[in-house]
Amino acid sequence: MPYCPQCREEYRTEATKCAECDVALVSELPKQAEPKWVQVFAGSFADATIVRSSLEAAGIEAFVPKDSVFPDAGIDMETSYGVEVLVSEEDAAEARKILQGMDRVESEEVPPGEGPQAKEGQA
Ligand SMILES: [Zn+2]
Repeated sequence: MPYCPQCREEYRTEATKCAECDVALVSELPKQAEPKWVQVFAGSFADATIVRSSLEAAGIEAFVPKDSVFPDAGIDMETSYGVEVLVSEEDAAEARKILQGMDRVESEEVPPGEGPQAKEGQA
């Protein structure tokens, strides 16, 4: 059965070109047409949940594989590590940027009296 590699339409006729896309049909869809998932985070279930919701809030589709969350052994969700957060390859760069931003927020603990707020108070 021929398929259009662009819109993935399946053709039942003897067409050789997709009527929509004007591209030659192929007998099988290429495997790389499926989204490629890239791991951008691995850690505790709690952290993975935060990462995932942060990415989704930024409009990035994030995916936590069920295998890594609920392994057969039934690891405690709060303490288990190795929970992965995956995004599509296209979004990986953007996702890593967001994650870097999150790390910065966590590590930027300004001592009291030395932050920008203290300076504003003096003015
Ligand atoms: Zn098409």
